[in-house]
Amino acid sequence: MFSLRYSRMSALKEIGIDGLEILQKSTVSIIGIGATGSSAADLFVRNGIGNMRIADPDSVDISNIHRQSLYDENDVGDLKVEAARKRLVSSNKGTSIEVLPQKINDDNVDRFCKGSSIIIDGSDNMETRRVLNSYSVTSGIPWVFTSAIGTVGQIKLIVPGKTACLQCINVRFDSPEMRCEDVGVLASAPYITGSLAWTLAVNYLIRGKLIDEIIYLDAGVPEIVHVKTQRDHSCQMCGNIP
Ligand SMILES: [Zn+2]
Repeated sequence: MFSLRYSRMSALKEIGIDGLEILQKSTVSIIGIGATGSSAADLFVRNGIGNMRIADPDSVDISNIHRQSLYDENDVGDLKVEAARKRLVSSNKGTSIEVLPQKINDDNVDRFCKGSSIIIDGSDNMETRRVLNSYSVTSGIPWVFTSAIGTVGQIKLIVPGKTACLQCINVRFDSPEMRCEDVGVLASAPYITGSLAWTLAVNYLIRGKLIDEIIYLDAGVPEIVHVKTQRDHSCQMCGNIP
């Protein structure tokens, strides 16, 4: 059924034919399709995810091209979600792709993400992450938090009721944020961050594998550090989940 196309995946004991079948039946929602989101989305589509939804309100800017792998010079000025869909379809016509050229907020998150197998945070702001953290707890849908700026990245798989959520580990959603246009970004940082987010998501979807930790990486060294996290049962967000 999967033939030659996925033969290098199915040969992996961590994936196998049954893993391919799970991915083909799965739906991933990518919230923000900048550099990290592009890296993760590209891997999901090339590796046979069945359904993908992509939300992002922005258009492609020439300053994006050095790190956002789904876009080229011809896409400048076009909506990112449309340019991304065009590129992703050319990699794999077997993935069904829906797009939304809007920012995800408390009002539209359920309409867009409902029924997702997992959500990938490709956003660039803490307000969107607050929305995703809250929605994950109320919907039960797992998500992968990511962040990449400068030379560094962070990744954490969050499964409500099983791992710490962002609030459990005291992430501040209202603290001042650095911006790529001010501090710069080393292109490999979001590439690695997005590909590790894909890896954590696939491991969880196929084998239910989860480790309660946050991964910190510095692409400039390079170095990856794993820091254990744990649920706070008095967490105002997820503490009520048994
Ligand atoms: Zn929590």
